[in-house]
Amino acid sequence: MSLRVGLKIRLVALAALMVASGIGCGESVTKPSGGPRPVVLVVTHTTGFRHSSIPTAESTIAELGRTSFFDVTFCRDAADVARLMTADGLKQVHAVFFANTTGDLGIPDLDAFFAWVQANGAVLGAHSASDTYHNEPRYIDMLGGEFQTHGNQAQADIDVENRTHPATSSLGSRWLVFDEIYHFTSNNRGRVDTLLALDRQPADGLPGESQPKDMPISWTKSYGTGRVFYTALGHREDVWESARFRQHLLGAITWVLRR
Ligand SMILES: [Zn+2]
Repeated sequence: MSLRVGLKIRLVALAALMVASGIGCGESVTKPSGGPRPVVLVVTHTTGFRHSSIPTAESTIAELGRTSFFDVTFCRDAADVARLMTADGLKQVHAVFFANTTGDLGIPDLDAFFAWVQANGAVLGAHSASDTYHNEPRYIDMLGGEFQTHGNQAQADIDVENRTHPATSSLGSRWLVFDEIYHFTSNNRGRVDTLLALDRQPADGLPGESQPKDMPISWTKSYGTGRVFYTALGHREDVWESARFRQHLLGAITWVLRR
């Protein structure tokens, strides 16, 4: 066998190995350390207002997972909640993302759910995740805030208070976003670790509009040894589709999953 033929055989063998292992030329492996990809349970069930942006939210989170390091399972209706959010079901997932949920979701065993969060669990909430389970103080305590009202959609001039957290490190010092801006039942500063805040009310038509006011709109917190992230943004489809919001979410998912 000539040297040239021998090299050819080795190259063919290498190519076959790459095909067998699913590695294509020019592709990179996201997590070369191996191991199963974490699963994010994306909950979009609603028993109150249902946002038209929910399909965009679902596709955005799925695409973030596909292009990074996690898989998603969707939990879209009451039957999904009853099947997937049991004590046993939660053992199959690594994070729960309440994406524009509203109302009482019918989680079959709330004690088991909160125990799961408190024992190294991971929770994310976007927008109306804070308009969810108003009748369950443990949920509001876990999330760190409770939606009260909103006015007209408006431009928010957001102060990026935490410039080093993975959820906000890519955002710069100010972030202008046109969205529906939530007002909360109380100011939670001191009870959460604020990431984003407004220093005046948006021009949303509500009393006090455009007047100075401290309004945290995104934060993290601990719940037991679990990690919780919330952002009030995410009413509009174009917010979910924007590069900055996607970076905000991917950083948050990275953080709650301790990656
Ligand atoms: Zn909304």
